[in-house]
Amino acid sequence: MENNNVVGFHHHKGSLTFPSHLKLGTYATINMTTRVSCRLDDGSYVEWAEVSYTVEGSKCNLLLTRLVHSDAHFNTVTFTINDSIIRPQFKSLSLHITKTKTGLLHTLDLKADSPITWTKTRKNVDARGGAKNTKVYLYGTANRCGLLVLECEKIDYHGCAKAVTMAHYFVSSNGLAAVNRTSETTEIGFSVVVKVGICDGKFDIALEGPEQHSVSALLYMFDQVNSSGIWKPSMCPHCANIKRECSRTPANTITIDNSGNFIGHGCGAYVGGNFNVYN
Ligand SMILES: [Zn+2]
Repeated sequence: MENNNVVGFHHHKGSLTFPSHLKLGTYATINMTTRVSCRLDDGSYVEWAEVSYTVEGSKCNLLLTRLVHSDAHFNTVTFTINDSIIRPQFKSLSLHITKTKTGLLHTLDLKADSPITWTKTRKNVDARGGAKNTKVYLYGTANRCGLLVLECEKIDYHGCAKAVTMAHYFVSSNGLAAVNRTSETTEIGFSVVVKVGICDGKFDIALEGPEQHSVSALLYMFDQVNSSGIWKPSMCPHCANIKRECSRTPANTITIDNSGNFIGHGCGAYVGGNFNVYN
């Protein structure tokens, strides 16, 4: 479903709408909020969309913000990840995107105040000289981990991009720790994808998710991304299966009550609130 008018700075597509608060089993929640803040006399303000995963006291916050300066020609989009598993001292990962005077996008990536030490970076050049740069950052432990992806589509070797995709995957799994536990634990895997482009000189921001995936499928994908440096949503076997199912099923026989508006990683198999909890 699509709800464009919550704050208004992004298009949202996903199984849940803003605002939402979802409880998954006994120990996990997802909170989705939007707000506008820091309104100054000169008309500057900041728009926020926030997704928070909390699992057994461990927390991961995703923040998408747009700074709109009084000078309408200057604004910035930032995607920030604050994950309690990132040590030391919960250092945040942030991806800043600004518009250049030539109508392209300039990206700056930081872990706290230093550049992110990406796990893998890749550059592909197509026959027409267009380039796609992909950077992936894997972090955490076997039971509680994350993947951040920054993908920039460039016209040529020029440093700026015409489109930027940022993806974050969150995994909390029982793993081996479950052997020694008698209490419930919760296995969850979710993704958020942010696509930024420019349309008529303005930012065009699309936010997809959070969308649920099977944990084992995401862990498999993390391994593949780690070894290849390549990322695409269909590398999640569960998403690839959904895509295959969709292509086998004639469009006019699908009966999903979300009006077919789902444009997440799947084809509409997830309906709002229909989330699985693995205890
Ligand atoms: Zn998936």
